[in-house]
Amino acid sequence: MFKSIQWKIILIFMILTLSVMIVVGTFLLQNISEYYHNDFATTLSAQTFTPKVTAELERAAASDDPIGEITELMNIYSVRMGIDSFRNYYILDGTTAEVLSGSDSETREVEITENIVFALDGKVGQEVDRSNRYMDFALPIQVDGQTRYIAYVIDSKEEVYDIIKNIFINILWALLFGLLISAFLGFILARMIILPISNLQIRAEEMANGDFGQKIEVRSNDEIAKLTGAFNDMASQIEKSLSDISGEKKKVETILAQMTDGIAAFDMEGSLVHLNIAAKNYLGAATMEEIEGFADFAERLGFDISLESLTYLEQNGVVARETKKDNRILKVLFAPYSDETEKNGGVIAVLQDITEQTKLEGARREFVANVSHELRTPITTIKSYAETILDMSEEDTPEKNFVAVIESEANRMARIVTDLLTLSRLDNGASRIEKRVFDLAEMTKGVAEKLALDAKNHGLEISFTRGEGAGEFFGDSERLEQVVTNIVSNAIKYTPEGGKISVMYKSLNARVYIVVSDNGIGIPERDLPRIFERFYRVDKARSRESGGTGLGLAIAKEFVEMHGGEIDIKSEENKGTIVTIALPMVQV
Ligand code: ADP
Repeated sequence: MFKSIQWKIILIFMILTLSVMIVVGTFLLQNISEYYHNDFATTLSAQTFTPKVTAELERAAASDDPIGEITELMNIYSVRMGIDSFRNYYILDGTTAEVLSGSDSETREVEITENIVFALDGKVGQEVDRSNRYMDFALPIQVDGQTRYIAYVIDSKEEVYDIIKNIFINILWALLFGLLISAFLGFILARMIILPISNLQIRAEEMANGDFGQKIEVRSNDEIAKLTGAFNDMASQIEKSLSDISGEKKKVETILAQMTDGIAAFDMEGSLVHLNIAAKNYLGAATMEEIEGFADFAERLGFDISLESLTYLEQNGVVARETKKDNRILKVLFAPYSDETEKNGGVIAVLQDITEQTKLEGARREFVANVSHELRTPITTIKSYAETILDMSEEDTPEKNFVAVIESEANRMARIVTDLLTLSRLDNGASRIEKRVFDLAEMTKGVAEKLALDAKNHGLEISFTRGEGAGEFFGDSERLEQVVTNIVSNAIKYTPEGGKISVMYKSLNARVYIVVSDNGIGIPERDLPRIFERFYRVDKARSRESGGTGLGLAIAKEFVEMHGGEIDIKSEENKGTIVTIALPMVQV
């Protein structure tokens, strides 16, 4: 309860009043006490015992009845001295300070105070020490330079104490009223401040419950009114943003629902947060609840994959997997997504039905294989007849030239057919590699030497460098030779006259690297990603002219991958190309 602003304000008001009253009270009481002390001193020294009165007293002291006459004089001045029940005068003996007479006849003896000691010494004792519980004044009455008597006035200060006490009680009453008034004012002020704040609080709670309807009325023009105005603006902004978001959400939901691809989203805990209709169909689940998180999802698709490995190991990468489910071939793409704080939010899986695509692809490959197979015999026949005719005719006739063209084209066709058959065999898994230990460095050098003549005919220079590391390799020597030959031939084909080709071999950290670089025409950047595709050629006319089929790199890649290696092309148009073959060394 005391934590509320209302109580804090009331408390501050009360503390303020209390401190003001304490300060004022202390000053007041101090001043009153000071006034009384000063008044006592001036009344006696300046107003009563003037030099004239002192002389009168001295004269009386020298008379026959000194005490009687002094008493008489003192009685005359008693009103001026303010003698009453709290203030008395005494006539003391000038040497013993014994009481000889006085206004209070019952007192026979007085305490020897500092002022009396002064008077005994012949000086006026008029010191007012506020810490004493009395105020006194002692006047020496001298005869012939000798202190005979002392006129002594003492005030018990009881009157001062009475007055101070009364004022103090009044101050306490004033304090009490002051506190009540300040508490009341504090209460009113607090209500004035708190009421609009409470209204804001209630509205904020309503907003949190989704009710944006009403606005808070702004009555005044103070800071709280401005805050309320800002709050109203904020409420309408939030309402607008929320309706925008929900509109967007509905749009996305409709798109997801209509998609033929399945979408499943998981959070970092592996709980399913979204599953569209297509995904439900693919998974054979009627409702979202049937899928018990990511592990169950992966198991239903027959994947041995964990959410952690997708979000942490495959950072920001997309992981693609294929699976068979209910006579369907599904391609599943897993992609981690980040939340609004750029942290891992979870994983989205996209399920694509690639059954038809796979079937078509199979049919296409089968067709290509069949056609290539069927074409092989007729092409071989054409080739051999053309060769025979060429061998037979000696003269250089136009017919002979035609036959030469037929032979060259038949050769090209034969090469395409051979390449296609190689790829078909690779696709069908009919092609197996036959591994043996051989010297890969020597083999690479051999290819460079073999093609040196060809290069020279094209006006090119070819060089071989043997780097560090062993040359022995366990693999399929024929296929690797085919790969290296193809890469070096490409360098020769696509490097203009006067160019340089370098072939380098080295082995390092259990990996073999064969690097073929040229300073030829290069490959435009846009073509690089597709360069390993079958039949992909950058400049079709040029490639055909140089006898290319567009299959060489595709075959090279397959062969290299069969050895567990990678092939990489870096190229810049009109600058040159670097092809790197990296193969892991396997222990025999
Ligand atoms: P091709 O039989 O046409 O040479 P490849 O599969 O060997 O087919 O190569 C595909 C395409 O890549 C070629 O058509 C050519 O455009 C390009 N290419 C390959 N190697 C090089 C190279 N060293 N320099 C420039 N372009 C190249």
